[in-house]
This record gives sequence, structure tokens and C-alpha cells, in this order.
Amino acid sequence: MAMVYVGLGTNLGDRLENIREARKGLAVIPDTDLLDNAPIYETAPMGGPGGQENYYNTVSLLDTRLEPVELLRHLHAIERLRGRRREGETSRWGPRLLDLDILLWDDAVVEEPNLTVPHPRMAERAFVLKPLSDLDPDFLHPVLDLTIRELLQRIPPDDAGIRRISV
Ligand code: ATP
Ligand code: CA
Ligand code: CA
Repeated sequence: MAMVYVGLGTNLGDRLENIREARKGLAVIPDTDLLDNAPIYETAPMGGPGGQENYYNTVSLLDTRLEPVELLRHLHAIERLRGRRREGETSRWGPRLLDLDILLWDDAVVEEPNLTVPHPRMAERAFVLKPLSDLDPDFLHPVLDLTIRELLQRIPPDDAGIRRISV
């Protein structure tokens, strides 16, 4: 079994509903248990085209027997169930109903053609590190050799720009 942190993001449609449905989807992945859900944070979009809605972001912890690429397939299936159609996406980092990323896989480093873990951009993203630190601030990033708490401290507070929403 492997402990896996998954990042959830949405900035289209009913964002709360998208997160709730994503969590339900994560809970029924075969050979996988959904162990924990972080609080949800609202963040202004970074990169991509202007004029987008704010994101809702959170992180979930899974315990799985699947291989990394198998889990990624299930995550993509959940994205599609929520109505995400990659073909219709005109630009990178554009608006989407649901985005599920594998952030960390135990202390493993995965380099597959379509999968890189730890997620290559997670260390610069407060909207990933904040919910992650709510679940496990002492988790050691296996490549950077810093804890989630230390990674979060490296981000200037002004850049964090995230707000916990109460649900
Ligand atoms: P970012 O990766 O910067 O968060 P994104 O999530 O918007 O951008 P997508 O369009 O959702 O990018 O995904 C593009 C591709 O990234 C996917 O098809 C997937 O194969 C690949 N990928 C590589 N590493 C990962 C990972 N750790 N988790 C999810 N997808 C990944
Ligand atoms: Ca992403
Ligand atoms: Ca993604």
C-alpha cells in the first residue's frame, strides 16, 4: 500500500459540488481507501488566460494498492465524470470543472512519460502546500528534502493569496 496525496482544483460551475463529487469519486476507486480530506481554500487563478473565476483547491489522502499510472487513469476518469473534456480546452491552465493531480507518492520519485511525482510545480503553490500542511506538515518532500511546512514558509505571504472557506 502507498500513501498518496492528491490535489483537487475547480474554477467552473458549482465549485463546492465539484469538490464534493470528486471526493465521492476518490472514495470508490478500487483497491484504494480515502483516508482524509483537507479543508478547502479559495485562490485567485495563477497563469493561464485572464478573467477566470477563483479556484477552490484542496488535498485528499489516499491509501492505494494501485500503480501510479493506474491511479492517474482513475483520476482522469473522475475528471471526465465531472464533465471535464480535455479536447475542448483551448489553453493550458484555463478554466476547468475539475483537476486532479498526484502530488506525492510515499517518498517515491516517479518519472513516466505522462506522470511525474512529486508534482513538479507543487513547491511554488500555496494552494497546494496549505491544504497539504493541514494534513501533514512534517511530510518530507523526497526530492527537495524539505518538509511541507518549510516549503510553505518559503512562499512570501503576499503571494499566498489564499482564503480558507468554511463548509
Ligand atoms: P499543472 O501540471 O501545472 O498543475 P494541469 O494540471 O492544468 O497543470 P493538465 O492539463 O491537467 O495540467 O495535465 C496535463 C498532463 O499532465 C496530464 O495529461 C498528465 O498525464 C500529466 N501529468 C504529469 N505528472 C502528473 C501528476 N503528478 N499528476 C497529474 N497529471 C500529471
Ligand atoms: Ca494541476
Ligand atoms: Ca492536472
